[in-house]
Amino acid sequence: MLGQLGDGAKLLAGGQSLIPLLKLRFASPDHLIDVNFIPDTSFIKEESGALCFGAMTRHAEVENSDLAKKIPVLHDCAAGIADVQVRNRGTIGGSLAEADPSGDWANALITLDTTIHCLGPNGARSISLKNFIKDAYTTDLAHDELVTEVEGKLPPKSSGGAYLAFKRTAPVYPSASAAVQLTLVGDVCQEAAIALGCVGLTAIRATEAESALSGKTLDDKTIATAAEAARAAADPQTDRRGSAEYKRALVGALVKRAIQIAARRARGEQVEGVHLYA
Ligand SMILES: Cc1cc2nc3c(=O)[nH]c(=O)nc-3n(C[C@H](O)[C@H](O)[C@H](O)COP(=O)(O)OP(=O)(O)OC[C@H]3O[C@@H](n4cnc5c(N)ncnc54)[C@H](O)[C@@H]3O)c2cc1C
Repeated sequence: MLGQLGDGAKLLAGGQSLIPLLKLRFASPDHLIDVNFIPDTSFIKEESGALCFGAMTRHAEVENSDLAKKIPVLHDCAAGIADVQVRNRGTIGGSLAEADPSGDWANALITLDTTIHCLGPNGARSISLKNFIKDAYTTDLAHDELVTEVEGKLPPKSSGGAYLAFKRTAPVYPSASAAVQLTLVGDVCQEAAIALGCVGLTAIRATEAESALSGKTLDDKTIATAAEAARAAADPQTDRRGSAEYKRALVGALVKRAIQIAARRARGEQVEGVHLYA
């Protein structure tokens, strides 16, 4: 139908981004194609070392999934998106396709070596999340393609993750967020993935912060160095959620806390990772 109707047609998934845009007259597509009735598009399954989510899987389904709890960075992310109403309708595929710079999913998933599976008139193709999101509100999808599945690689056993966002209230987007995935061998951090959200046009991989941890003993000094490097990597803009400087300070604090929670989880501790509210 996307192919037949041309680029005046849009898919309607959970409607939690598209419907507000229609109400504000920021979008006025000629046709809406409701994909809510297509069977087998909502699922969570473990397959060859990865966790796979159907594009229509709701945030609440991820939040309540025992399988997804195996990857706490994803469970933390799902459980903190807006409020229960939005989580019951919004979908993981819709969120990635929207590529809102403040959206949570891309930031959490980019720490996991995630692949996006797409389908169009020319067949199926797969693309890394890193290459899928091109810019703010811009993805690699052609107008006649859709996202079918999101595949996040399962981290190794000695790995732990955390996703923390700072919000003014529950039903708003975060002012800043941090996703961390660490693999530990004893007290040494073998591998680190750190991503920052809401402080750039897309989620930012804080590579200098990752290097500050990789191969090092995880102590207060290395954590402080990584948090400082993350602050430097952020590229925030001043808006109603805070000044650029305020958001930069938030990033440092969130990354530090997320590293601490991720490390405790990597050591096998059960830690509740909760978002922080003003
Ligand atoms: C009050 C409020 C607060 C919110 N707070 C947050 C928050 O804190 N964090 C957060 O991450 N999000 C937040 N959201 C957004 C929410 O997570 C949305 O669910 C999500 O961004 C879009 O998913 P959707 O399924 O609702 O997509 P829709 O709104 O239906 O669609 C969004 C866009 O994606 C396209 N699309 C949908 N599905 C596909 C697909 N399978 N393939 C290709 N294109 C597709 C649509 O055509 C449309 O252009 C909030 C929303 C509201 C209303």
